[in-house]
Amino acid sequence: MEPNLPAATGFLADVRQDGGRTLAPVFAALGARDRWQERTGDAVLHADLVHSGTPAGARARTRGGALVFAGELYNRDELVGLLPGGASPDSDATLVAALFAVYDVHAFRLLNGRFAALIADSGRAVLATDHAGSVPLYASVAPGRVLAATEAKALRTAPRGRPLPARPVRRLPGTHQVPAGTVLDIAVATASCLPHRTWTPPLARRVMPEEEAVDAVRRTLERAVAARTGRGTPLVVLSGGIDSSTVAALAARRSTGPIDTVSMGTDEADEFPQARVVARHVGSTHRDVTIPADELLSRLPHTVWASECLDPDIVEYLLPLTALYLRLGRGGDGGRRILTGYGADIPLGGMHRESRLPQLDTAVCHDMDTFDGLNEMAPALSGVAGHWSTHPYWDRDVLDVLVSLEAGLKRRHGRDKWVLRAAMDDVLPHEVVVRPKLGVHEGSGTTSSFSRLVRDAGVPRDLVHRVKGLVVQAIFDRVVVEGRHPDEVATGAVVERVAGHVVPGTRPVPR
Ligand code: AMP
Ligand code: MG
Repeated sequence: MEPNLPAATGFLADVRQDGGRTLAPVFAALGARDRWQERTGDAVLHADLVHSGTPAGARARTRGGALVFAGELYNRDELVGLLPGGASPDSDATLVAALFAVYDVHAFRLLNGRFAALIADSGRAVLATDHAGSVPLYASVAPGRVLAATEAKALRTAPRGRPLPARPVRRLPGTHQVPAGTVLDIAVATASCLPHRTWTPPLARRVMPEEEAVDAVRRTLERAVAARTGRGTPLVVLSGGIDSSTVAALAARRSTGPIDTVSMGTDEADEFPQARVVARHVGSTHRDVTIPADELLSRLPHTVWASECLDPDIVEYLLPLTALYLRLGRGGDGGRRILTGYGADIPLGGMHRESRLPQLDTAVCHDMDTFDGLNEMAPALSGVAGHWSTHPYWDRDVLDVLVSLEAGLKRRHGRDKWVLRAAMDDVLPHEVVVRPKLGVHEGSGTTSSFSRLVRDAGVPRDLVHRVKGLVVQAIFDRVVVEGRHPDEVATGAVVERVAGHVVPGTRPVPR
């Protein structure tokens, strides 16, 4: 049977002229491990893969070397059509290697996928992210060696790298994150680096009749969901809001049997009734999972460990889902393929609770300018429990359509995300189509329970957000920079220590 997950979900790779190797592979993502070595020109490529049973599917030979690929492609059929002589590659890695032979670095402009890749070829190391950088990729580069990994923590003991045209990682000097939609073309011998942008969010806005826009949104979403559902039964993390209900409905329509859905809540808040309405409507096998607030907060270190994110607001969105993935466990037959409704609000301005169009488009522009490096879509978040998550709203084609729609199609007839709601009008119950936005951090009580923990440590209300940010930084330093396992880090103790520093006079807790 063909595996239902990508061949690899992460890697650590180095390309070295001295042939040596220094780093131990350390990942939050769970999976089988495989080590591979290949000579390329005057250097040697070593690669450690986190894989799901068929590591050979995550690597390929190129003309002058080799490629490692973590993740998957969503426009395989159109890409295969580009290859000379009716070639039929047996994996995404082989397909990318074949496209590289034809287009060189520009091959990455063709791909719609969720991946990070490294090619070692004829004295070059080519590092590439997908359009959204949805599989993070980090690098440490010096003359004679290129180190790259899908998790920064794998590079924490790397020798100091040269500056790169990329974002430096906090407290890991010389380690950088490859920007979204970017290829770094590096000469291994000299460490000189040429960046190529392969995607950028659309800046122009398209004017379309309502019906045409609704149609375009529906068609691209159907295709994005279809490309992500794989062969087994998909699992949709379902809140009952319009975004995830759309994904569940479209996945159910193309599935022969019932799909699986799961909804999380805490002892303080949940959206169980809302999710159940949708589950019943799409005929899914549905589960409610209640996670006590204490357990939820104890997963904060796991969330930072997986996402390597330093933004406390984003971490609050990611925490409930990470706790849910950990609760799902691994299951008998390995990891699940999980679809989410994550990220729909960014191109549609859905979190923006106001009706004026200039403000709406300003919010969309701002969010599309600042998503990079937040790692909201990092696969390691579900990877900590061995699962593979994928996000149809951040499909390259869906994103191109949604971002570029004229703002009046996003807010219309008094509704936010109007065009999406209209596109799903015939598939979802009316109450779901008109359900107002509720963020996962709100619906699960995550923000309020984290705030309470901080307040209970003696922090005044106006400093809560600042303390949350410092707590996330302190946790990042432990689980990424110092390489500790998140089970060794207690959220409560970190909060008390940070509170003791910020608010003199509160009980400082010794380290
Ligand atoms: P939201 O912040 O509501 O946009 O949530 C982002 C995504 O996370 C949704 O589209 C769902 O796929 C998932 N999600 C949100 N809330 C829940 C929940 N309570 N249970 C399960 N999945 C959820
Ligand atoms: Mg929601």
